[in-house]
Amino acid sequence: MITVTKQPFDPGPAAWNEILPAATAHPALDRDIKADFLVIGGGFAGLSAARRLKQLEPDAAIALVDARRIAEGPAGRNSGFMIDLPHNLASKDYAGDAVRDRSQTALNREAIAFAAEAAGEYGMPEEAFSPSGKINAAATERGTAHNRDYAAHLERMGEAHELLDEKAMRDISGCDYYRGGLYTPGTAMLQPALYVRGIAEGLADAGVALFENTPVTSLSRQSNTWRAATPAGAISTGSVVLCVNGHAESFGFFKRRLMHIYLYASMTRRLTAQETAALGGQERWGFTPADPLGTTVRRISGTGGARIVVRNRFTWAPGRSVEPQRLRSVAHVHDRSFAARFPVLTGADMEYRWGGLLCLSLNTAPAFGELEPGLFSACCQNGLGTAAGTLSGKLIAEQICGHASESLAAMQALPAPRRLPPEPFASIGANATMRWGEMRAGKEL
Ligand SMILES: Cc1cc2nc3c(=O)[nH]c(=O)nc-3n(C[C@H](O)[C@H](O)[C@H](O)COP(=O)(O)OP(=O)(O)OC[C@H]3O[C@@H](n4cnc5c(N)ncnc54)[C@H](O)[C@@H]3O)c2cc1C
Repeated sequence: MITVTKQPFDPGPAAWNEILPAATAHPALDRDIKADFLVIGGGFAGLSAARRLKQLEPDAAIALVDARRIAEGPAGRNSGFMIDLPHNLASKDYAGDAVRDRSQTALNREAIAFAAEAAGEYGMPEEAFSPSGKINAAATERGTAHNRDYAAHLERMGEAHELLDEKAMRDISGCDYYRGGLYTPGTAMLQPALYVRGIAEGLADAGVALFENTPVTSLSRQSNTWRAATPAGAISTGSVVLCVNGHAESFGFFKRRLMHIYLYASMTRRLTAQETAALGGQERWGFTPADPLGTTVRRISGTGGARIVVRNRFTWAPGRSVEPQRLRSVAHVHDRSFAARFPVLTGADMEYRWGGLLCLSLNTAPAFGELEPGLFSACCQNGLGTAAGTLSGKLIAEQICGHASESLAAMQALPAPRRLPPEPFASIGANATMRWGEMRAGKEL
């Protein structure tokens, strides 16, 4: 029997969800049921797995459970960049890496196309899923050089891009902070809570049984049947799909192979008409930082009004939890980053602050495949989790249903997550790398 050792903990409110009208509630499981497939986890991976299973086996009984409400977990807590290109295209061995970069880009694009199709089919508004591209923003000479380097690689890959100067960045964002940017058109910008709610509602309409506030506490197998126990009921099924990202380790898998990291964000209150007029710029834009440990910034305008969202700081969390007071300690960094970029918005306080867990592996490998007969994993999404989660959910469903594809073969050919160094070296190394990286990020933070 597999006993789940840790349930998800997400500090602070899921702001993207809070600014929307109340969501359709799905019940908590309160009895014993049977299903052909059980998906555990209602984030990008779980929802995509359920959607693909439904496409491939339309008559199958599919159940999906989440410990929390849909959009309350990391899937509704991220910055909403569904990115096609790898973070790092910098390489000396260009020929070798070009093949890997092209393959990763193609897989990310498959995920984005799958998400776009879902957004269309379920009638989501543009606010939920917008294929508008993104800008990698540089506030320093080092960041600008990085963007130039990245652009040169894109040129060789034949990828569309545009380098933006200081004035163009000011025209977009209204702020004088940035020296330049690199626009690439392939990213989809999400209102993440609206998007995952939209998928969940589409699945429920198509007959998938959704259960919220239903943590799986144990899994056991008798001959060909798995039994997933939850606090007030159980699900018996032939196939279980684990889509719990780093919590795969809470189910006893990939021990000491997954790196758990909390990320943090803050969202302002609704900006007034005077404030948006004083700021100028466009109504919606998204900047990722030229330094990976820098600050992601979005200006949004939609259901919750005009707001600014900033995201920075990383903390190492091998136990997959964090003290709630950590939010207070990252708040001043968020406020400093916001004030430096938006001096005209003095007084536009942060209404929401939150954190969320993501999962990386040392060799950026996913935790993907069949772990035991009838028990499958689409976990460990690494850095581009909205795209990677969507892809791994889609592909694990294809593996389960015996639907061969080039993408599935590429995913299956990837190595397993590499073992971490022993403690305390892993924690010391990770903390030192993150703190040094944040210091080095300078004005990009
Ligand atoms: C602040 C922040 C900003 C981010 N920004 C971006 C970004 O801009 N772009 C990007 O690509 N990625 C971003 N990410 C990462 C991204 O959110 C994750 O990689 C992504 O959500 C992973 O998808 P997933 O479906 O694998 O896992 P999750 O979204 O974490 O979903 C897993 C689900 O499993 C559930 N679960 C866990 N254990 C159990 C259990 N025992 N029983 C039942 N349910 C369980 C959880 O409640 C959770 O809902 C960001 C993350 C954070 C925190």
